[in-house]
Amino acid sequence: MTAAGGPPRVRFAPSPTGYFHVGGARTALYNWLVARRLGGAFVLRIEDTDRERSDESWTEGILSALSWLGIDWDEGPYRQSERRDLYDEAARRLYAARLLYACDCQRADVEARNKDNPTPGYDGFCRDRGLEPGPGRALRFRVPDEGVTVVHDVVRGDVEFANSTIEDFVVIKSSGDPLFVLAVVVDDIAMGITHVIRAEEHLPTTPKAVLLWEALEGGALPVYAHLPVLVNEKRQKLSKRRDRVAVEDYRMLGYLPEAMRNYLALLGWAPADGREVLSLAELVDEFRLEDVNVSPAFFDEKRLLHFNGLYIRALDDAEFIDRSQPFLVAPYATWTDETFDPVPFERLAPLVKERVGTLGEVAPMVAFLFAEPFVMDEAAFAKAIANDPGARPILEAAYDVFSASPWDAESLKAELIAIAESAGRKLAKAQAPIRVATMGSAVGLPLFESLQVLGRERARARIAAALEHVGAEQD
Ligand code: GLU
Repeated sequence: MTAAGGPPRVRFAPSPTGYFHVGGARTALYNWLVARRLGGAFVLRIEDTDRERSDESWTEGILSALSWLGIDWDEGPYRQSERRDLYDEAARRLYAARLLYACDCQRADVEARNKDNPTPGYDGFCRDRGLEPGPGRALRFRVPDEGVTVVHDVVRGDVEFANSTIEDFVVIKSSGDPLFVLAVVVDDIAMGITHVIRAEEHLPTTPKAVLLWEALEGGALPVYAHLPVLVNEKRQKLSKRRDRVAVEDYRMLGYLPEAMRNYLALLGWAPADGREVLSLAELVDEFRLEDVNVSPAFFDEKRLLHFNGLYIRALDDAEFIDRSQPFLVAPYATWTDETFDPVPFERLAPLVKERVGTLGEVAPMVAFLFAEPFVMDEAAFAKAIANDPGARPILEAAYDVFSASPWDAESLKAELIAIAESAGRKLAKAQAPIRVATMGSAVGLPLFESLQVLGRERARARIAAALEHVGAEQD
């Protein structure tokens, strides 16, 4: 409930200036959980006032990533670029109330004047010059000299800012465009927002937002919550250049949205009993903004991968097969549609499910069934066959025995045990050349089930080809 007693109205307000970042997704999710838990509204607002950096394709990416994560919105998307009149009108009101003043200072002049000044920011040069607003003139907010502005933050407690440390900040640029801090406050008031839940990096501008909110007589201030920054394993803030941060990348790699969502929820919050795997209903039920942590949250890709594996294994087989479909075509698949056959895939799918961390790993694991020509890992071939003199007799024996053996995993295993024994090898050592010859790789699915699905003809043809190849190399 809010101070006013009604259900909360939260908003997610991304700037469409790049790929949708996992930090943005975490912010969206926390807002959404608050709205869903308390029966409130989740408003989506696209903050595209920076015309040079904003692009419609980034907006589309954000909408599609939110939908993928199952984060639906009740209102919007509003676009700030379509709400310009509201910001101009607010600026006129503030100017009429003498809360804004026009300023024609150039950045270089301000910097020159500030050289010996310990307080950074604007020095108030134009405060009392009485300039008329006009082209080339910014409008600045007249911050009171005295007093303190307090930000009530659910995560951090009260954060106090002495007004003397807040510069007279720009609300309308010299180009006439509104600045982000004004647009945010005007919209939050107009949209009846009760909770502003956003990234920690916005905390320094929040006292400015509070001053504007009060100046615009916006009524009860929203509840603020500044979420902890996401860091990598070196405790550095996640960066686009260094870390994998785009939600889209994870989607393309075959992460499940429910795993991603669960993992994102734990970046700064955990349920009281420390459980880690939580369904959406549990998250909605248990998430509390008051319990969000203030310290930086480690975005651990390995842990996310682990979560994803857990979620993949929890799918039933039919669902796993269904959800693998988009990952069985290019660019994941190295085969063509003509050589793909769903039947053998479905037979091996339960075994695949146990062994992949992402859906993107499915195609490489079953490529031995469908890729023509058959792709051989040359390093594995060298190790298990070309450089192992004991491999040839195993392959020859298997080639012969496999011509008449019953073709099921159990019988094939029994045959290979017999071959291994007569060659004086452990089963694993006897399997290695057969696996590489027939599957093209030293790792992957269990050999005997794979052979069963591959079929007698193809298995023998591949063993023969390997023998020929090694023969050619050894001759
Ligand atoms: N548009 C800002 C951003 O993308 C968010 C501002 C806010 O939530 O108040 O970082």
